[in-house]
Amino acid sequence: MLQFLRMFQTTIAREGAVEGVGLHTGVFGHLRLRPAPADTGVVFRRIDLDNFAIEAQGENVARVSYATSLMKQGVWLSTTEHLLAAIYSCGIDNIYIDIDSIEVPILDGSAEPFVQLLDDCGIRRLRRKRRYLKVLKALEVVEGDRRVGVYPDDEFRVRCYVDFRHPLVGQQEVEIAVGPDTFRHLLSRARTFCFERDITPLREMGLIRGGSLENAIVLTEDSVMNGPLRFPDEFGRHKALDLIGDLALVGMSLLARVEAHKAGHSLHTQLVSRLLADPSLWTVTTATQAAGREPSLASNELALPFAAAD
Ligand SMILES: [Zn+2]
Repeated sequence: MLQFLRMFQTTIAREGAVEGVGLHTGVFGHLRLRPAPADTGVVFRRIDLDNFAIEAQGENVARVSYATSLMKQGVWLSTTEHLLAAIYSCGIDNIYIDIDSIEVPILDGSAEPFVQLLDDCGIRRLRRKRRYLKVLKALEVVEGDRRVGVYPDDEFRVRCYVDFRHPLVGQQEVEIAVGPDTFRHLLSRARTFCFERDITPLREMGLIRGGSLENAIVLTEDSVMNGPLRFPDEFGRHKALDLIGDLALVGMSLLARVEAHKAGHSLHTQLVSRLLADPSLWTVTTATQAAGREPSLASNELALPFAAAD
C-alpha cells in the first residue's frame, strides 16, 4: 500500500558481522555490513582485493545457473541472492558489504540469519529522498515453458510458481506484497534445496563444494533427507526469496508486480538487464510523486531526527 512507501533513503545504524562457508566454492569467508552514505546503493567490497568495489546492480551480473554471481573487471562475488533479498526487503538503500572471499556465506541456506543481522544493525534514515523505479509497461522473458514478467503496480509484489516432479514439492505458488514484515514471516526462513540425484553431477561441475545437510534441504526420490521442513511449501517460498534477491539488482526499490513461472536465476537476471536497458518501460519517482502529490520544497529538506532508528 502506498502509505508504506518510505520517503527517505536508509542505511544501517551500526556495523554487523557474520562468517561461514560458501555453498558453491566451499571457501570460508568473513562478511561485515557497514553504514553507507545516501546514493551509495548496495556495494560489495572485496577486502582481500584492496577493497575492490562491486555494485549490486544489473550491469555487474554474470549469469550462472545455480546461483547469482556478480563480476566486475574479472573480480567475482558469488551467491549474492539471499543476502540481497534480506537487504532489499528490509528497505536498506545504502550499505557496504565488506567480504574477504569470493562467495557470500550460505549459513543455514535461508535469509533468516541475514534478517537477524540487519535487526542487530538497526536502520537509520538519511536526508536524501528515496527513489523508486516505477514500471509503466509490461516486460516478459520467456524460455520454453519458463517465464518471468514484470507488470505495472502501485506496490512491490512477487508471485512465484514452481513445479518439480517430487511427492513433497509438485506445484507450489507463493504471492506476497514485499516488505520487511511479510519477508520476515513468510519467506526469510525458507531454505535452499537440492535433489540427492543431482549432488554428484553438481560436484563434478565444481559446484556445492560447501553444501551440507546443515545448509540445504536434500530431497531423496520420495522424501526429505534432513527434515522437518519449515513450511510445507518451503520450496516455492525459497524460489520467491531468490527472485527478490535477484530483483534487488535493479538498484532501486521497485513499484511493480513480478511473476515468475518455473523460472530461475538466469531468467530473473535477464529480466533485470532488459528492464534497465529500456527506459521507456519505467520512470524514476519518489514516494510523494507515486502517491500523486507533488513534492513541496519543504518536504525535500524536512528536518526529521534522522539519527533515530526507524
Ligand atoms: Zn536460494
